[in-house]
Amino acid sequence: MNFATRVLHGTSCFDPATGASSVPIYQASTFHQADLDQPGKFDYARSGNPTREALEHAIAGLEGGERGFAFASGMAAISSVFMLFSAGDHVVVAEDVYGGTFRFLTKVLSRMGITVTFVDASQTEAVRAAIQPTTKGIYLETPSNPTLKVTDLSAVCQIGKENGLLVIVDNTFLTPYYQRPLELGADIVIHSATKFIGGHSDVVAGLAVTRDTALGEQLYFIQNGMGAILGVQDCWLVMRGLKTLKARLDISTRTAEKIAHWLQAHPAVTRVYYTGLADHPGHEIQEAQASGHGAVLSFDVGSRERAKALFDRVKLPIVAVSLGAVETILSYPAAMSHAAMPAEERAQRGITDGLIRLSAGLEDVDDLILDLQQALDSLPSLEAAAPSEKAFSRA
Ligand SMILES: *Cc1c(COP(=O)(O)O)cnc(C)c1O
Repeated sequence: MNFATRVLHGTSCFDPATGASSVPIYQASTFHQADLDQPGKFDYARSGNPTREALEHAIAGLEGGERGFAFASGMAAISSVFMLFSAGDHVVVAEDVYGGTFRFLTKVLSRMGITVTFVDASQTEAVRAAIQPTTKGIYLETPSNPTLKVTDLSAVCQIGKENGLLVIVDNTFLTPYYQRPLELGADIVIHSATKFIGGHSDVVAGLAVTRDTALGEQLYFIQNGMGAILGVQDCWLVMRGLKTLKARLDISTRTAEKIAHWLQAHPAVTRVYYTGLADHPGHEIQEAQASGHGAVLSFDVGSRERAKALFDRVKLPIVAVSLGAVETILSYPAAMSHAAMPAEERAQRGITDGLIRLSAGLEDVDDLILDLQQALDSLPSLEAAAPSEKAFSRA
């Protein structure tokens, strides 16, 4: 069956007892054991709950993996997956991972004796060159945040396989609708379901899917042992969001494409990052490994002053940390998602002070463009910016 069908029938199975049209919320922390010698499938809700299980089955099916897991947040999923590694292990990590992932790796995991090397994963050979005798894993995010660099997933997974490494992919930006890393050779896929999968800016959640059962058993042991599970009410909200994932992304992606092309032609914009633009360096790989370009784009207006002026003037998008929602969201990576990253690291990754990220929602695209137009048309001139700032932003 095709995605549009599977996305619905994985999440709205009838409750066999009542015929209810959505999965019931089993608001129960423990389950009666009628026979001590033959315990039921569920015993204690950290270990398993039917509502959570329904969501875990749904995401595993959509990603094409054996086992799914629902966590309290994207970061809970990410940190739990990293618990598969041990002291002394080394992991090669894409340099422009989510800011919270960067913070967790450099400030928490480093204290546990697990070391990482950040590389530009869009350069496949840089990943190979970073492998050490103690390397056990490769961690990727593609397209990356916020400059949308594309990693060749098949090529990097091949390197992983040759070296016996666990390849983990954060698939938050594209979701299984557009990209299924397990089919390209990855071992684990992670989501911040707070974003497109939940889709309504009303729930914080994380998901993970393993390619095989053995790895699934290991991750289950960690999920149960660490306990960062998603509560049942939030599991239900994520399933509610998941049902409209395709419908929402079809519209939001079309909107992002139109806005990206429009921004590219606007004189106040110095650069647009969107994998759907033919001149994006990752365009061809993206077309080969994903079925869409997604709803997130970034653009540079040249300076912090001009970015601030734009944020002050736009009326429709909400200005917020986050992405992947029904409403268009504008964010300022230098001070929001990547605030945890030291300034010089940010500069190296192209996260300039003029960079703005846009996640397209479901508003009318012409209304959004009119709003962006009135804001961009009235920005202070680029020439008025301090020369050093200008040089920096255009570098
Ligand atoms: C938001 C985000 C995360 C973290 O997820 P939370 O649900 O906020 O904990 C991880 N990766 C990416 C790409 C994200 O956008």
